[in-house]
This record gives sequence, C-alpha cells and structure tokens, in this order.
Amino acid sequence: MRSHEYFYNYDRQNIQKPDAHFSNVQTKFIFVTGGVMSGLGKGVTSSSIAKLLQLADHKVSCIKIDPYLNYDAGTMNPVAHGEVFVTDDGGECDMDIGNYERFLNQDIPKSHNITTAQVYSSVIDAERKGEYLGACVQIIPHVTDEIKNRIKTIAKNEKLDFLIVECGGTVGDIESLPFLEALRQMKVEEGPQGVIFVHVTLAPSLDVVGEQKTKPTQHSVQELRRIGIQPDFLAVRCSLPLEEKTKKKIAMFTNVTTKDVLSCHDAKSIFEIPQMLYDQGIMDSIFTKFGKVGMVNTSANWDAWNKIAYNMVNHEDQKVKIAMVGKYVTLTDSYVSVNHALKHAGAHLGKSVDIHWIDSESIDDYDTLSNYDGILIPGGFGIRGSEGIVQTANYAREKNIPYLGICFGFQLAAIAFGRHVLNLEDGNSTEIKADAKNPIVDLLPEQKQVSDMGGSLRLGANKIVIKENTNAQQIYNTGIINKRHRHRYEINKEYIPQFEKSGLIFSADSDDGKRMEVLEIPSHKFYLGVQFHPEFNSRPGFPEESFTSFIKAASEK
Ligand code: GLN
Repeated sequence: MRSHEYFYNYDRQNIQKPDAHFSNVQTKFIFVTGGVMSGLGKGVTSSSIAKLLQLADHKVSCIKIDPYLNYDAGTMNPVAHGEVFVTDDGGECDMDIGNYERFLNQDIPKSHNITTAQVYSSVIDAERKGEYLGACVQIIPHVTDEIKNRIKTIAKNEKLDFLIVECGGTVGDIESLPFLEALRQMKVEEGPQGVIFVHVTLAPSLDVVGEQKTKPTQHSVQELRRIGIQPDFLAVRCSLPLEEKTKKKIAMFTNVTTKDVLSCHDAKSIFEIPQMLYDQGIMDSIFTKFGKVGMVNTSANWDAWNKIAYNMVNHEDQKVKIAMVGKYVTLTDSYVSVNHALKHAGAHLGKSVDIHWIDSESIDDYDTLSNYDGILIPGGFGIRGSEGIVQTANYAREKNIPYLGICFGFQLAAIAFGRHVLNLEDGNSTEIKADAKNPIVDLLPEQKQVSDMGGSLRLGANKIVIKENTNAQQIYNTGIINKRHRHRYEINKEYIPQFEKSGLIFSADSDDGKRMEVLEIPSHKFYLGVQFHPEFNSRPGFPEESFTSFIKAASEK
C-alpha cells in the first residue's frame, strides 16, 4: 500500500484529458458487471472510474441496475441490504447511488436506479394500453428494449460524455440475465468504440503470503462470455497488489490484455481507488478503446481532489469519539451515509472520527455514554429499541453531551424532553404506542389515508425556513435550506408552547409552518434534532453543516 505522502505528492505531469472534440461525440458507455461473489466493491469501482473521467473534465453520471423484484429499496431491511439512500427527487434508492453522489459531488436523480420491477411494470402497462398490439410480448425484445431505452434516455437528456452503468448482482444470477442481454445488445448497437465492459472479480489468497488464485476469475469471465460479453477490463479485488505473473495468467485465460487486468488491492480508504486505477493506466486505455484524440492538462482538478482525498485519511492523532446509538447496528452499511457524513465533517476540522456502535435495544448502563465526546441517534422505524433511544437522548441532555438526532433521533429527543422535563405522562410517538396519553409525535395528516408501504412516506427535498437568532441559523448561516426527508410521523404541534416555555425550541419549519424541522436546547453545549436527513447532502470536502457543528462541539473539551 502506498504511503499518503506518495498519494498526495503524486506526480501529476501526465494527467491529461482529451480535447473538446471528444466531448462532442455521443455518450460513451461503461458497463460494470460483477463476478465470483457480492460485496467486492463494484460500486466503488464504478464511482472511481466516473471520478477519473470527471477529473478529466467530462460530463459524467452513473446508473445502478438492481435486478431484484422490489420496485425500489424503500421496503428493504437496512440490516440485510444496507441503507436506503434518498435522492433529492424523493427516490428510495440503493446505497450505491450515495457512493456516486459522494464521489462525483453531484446529485443523482432516482431514474438512475433501475430495478426489474420498474422495467416490467412499464412493459406490462404498455401492453395493457395496447402499445404492442398484435405482438407476443417477450423478454427479448420488449424487456431488453425498455432497459436500453431507460439507459439511453438518461444519456441523451443529461447530455453526458460518459455514462457508467453498474449492474448489481453476480454473473450467473437468473435475475440479471435480461439486463446483461440488454447491455450486450448495446455494445452491438453503439459499436466497439461506444461501449466498454469492466468486470469486477476476486483473486483470493489462502494465507497472507500465499499465491493469488485466478480460477474464480477465469470461471466468472467464462460465464460472462457464455452470455456474449467479453470484458475489456478486469478489476480484480485482492488483499495485496496483484502480481505481474497473476495478471498475465488471468489475461491469457480471459482474452483481456495484461495491462487491462487491474489490481484493486486493499486500501486505507476508498478515496485512494481512483488514483490506484489511474496509476495502472486505466485512463489511457479507456480513451484508446473509445478512440482518443488530442490531450490537455487538468492538474487543477487533481489538486482539489488530492487535497480532499488526503484529508479524508489523515488526522489519526486528533480523535473524536462518537457513540452512534441506533437500531440497525449489526450492519455498518445500514447507516453508511451517516458514517461518511461524520468522517467528512471530521476531515474538514482536521479530526479523525471514531464511531462506536451501540445497539439501542440492549443498552442498559447509560453511564457508559459519558465516555464519548458526542452522541448521535440516526433514523429508524418501529418500537424495537426505541426506549433505549429515548433514554439516550435524555442522558445526553442531562449530562450536557453534544447530541445530534436525525429523524427518529429528532422525534425521540422531543419525547425524552416531554417525559422528563414537561412530565408528560406516557409521552410517546403513535408509531410506537398508538394510544399514548400524550402523543408528542403523531402521524402526518396526509398519511392517514395511505395504505401502501412502498414509496408512500414523505420523501425527498423540501424547503425549510430557519428562525432568526437560533443555533440553526448560526449553523447554516442562512434562513432557507433544502433538505431530504423520509418519514411518516411528525411533532404534534399542540405541544410546542409547552416545550418552548421550558427551554426547547423549534428553530425551523417547513410547509408554511405546518411541520417542525429542527429542535434545539439553547442552554445546552450542543443539542440539535433534525426531522430531515442531513447525511444525504454531505460530500467529501463539502461536509453538511449540522455534522460539522456537531463534531466541532464534540471536539471542544
Ligand atoms: N419512524 C419515523 C417516521 O416514520 C422516523 C423515520 C426515520 O427516522 N427515517 O417518521
């Protein structure tokens, strides 16, 4: 693994981009597939390639194909599948969309997360409308046409130079076959200089110094070729850098040039991967395959990115300890955007944030929380573990420990205050106790008619108005913010006067004062709850303001 110094001081003399002439041609497509097993980092590979192209001054975006039958990720358990990432336009998407947004520092619309259900729904709707009248509707061509159409529409509407399409799942899965067939057809239609395939595989070693095994990669490429796809690049996950002889062996068995067999070895941070791929000549090779023309230098972009990437992996000597008390702590991916947002804020302040996961269902000794510099409660749903969250929010308030509550963490902080300061007997959320005597948090009125669970929460970005002379105004340094939401319940406005009389104020609202968006306790070191999800707006180098203020307060002794 390279040292950070090397990483930062990387000689940028040769970093170049093709000239404008290249940008005027049609969108070029890069399709990323996966083999051997899941979890190899297709998302990071796709994002890194996209980043390299963006650094070369191209207009780039990414699509994630999820071959599962859910319409979107909204109804999936975060512990099994990872976080549900919410887009500005209210999509409940696969967490890879979050990776793309963070790497590219660019909003991605929900249309960029394509699932089997969306594709089939469109085809079936069209059939019912009689759009295929007379035809027998089939996977080829109707389903594959719909897939290609979705991809090409995005490329055209967004006038992209490059579109990276990551196909979820592993080659050999039944669900992904129609998608891979559509991608294969696109290579034929767009021509050899229009489409590149990158296949992500694994070269395991049975012990630390052991031989890097190539057989899983060989088999997975065979499987890909059986369905008509010849990869142009192999991104091979391995713990130590892929040896030259291993690259040669893989190349021989897979018909991929040795230099295009890329080592994706363990790195300290995902932000090192673009550089790792660049060092192996991926950019030259991509441009050659697409038919390269003149080059110009883009070192300014690299300067900015290197600074961000360097900052993200340093400051080990400046630790801030954060307790994250939540419901879905068995899989760190269930709060992946919150984790990233904390790290972005830390990097910005020259701190390294140590995140400790605490299960709100099993916490019993709240005094252990005094070992932390700050307490964060992320989003959540349902009764399990909710009491632990209420008690944690109360403990943070009583002990003057910096507290950031997000969505569920905002609602339950209000309940903690209601119970312990206002003495509201049986104060609760009707989500947790339907007949609570004091329903401090209640269903959004428009939710009363809703019966479907999928896509029916209050979703996406909404305008929020911040009150003057509040901490929120200081944190955001503006009166209006636009933040993403994902909730069904809200603060019951009947209780607001009691709260505000006793020292907890609601410092921002939305929809003309109809719903409360931020709570704060001005007398506390830092006590902030937000109904929205600030984590989805945080990017490396551009941390979300509430996280920065929280980490700043947590680092002050
Ligand atoms: N369960 C709460 C609601 O539906 C909070 C949701 C969340 O934390 N995302 O309002």
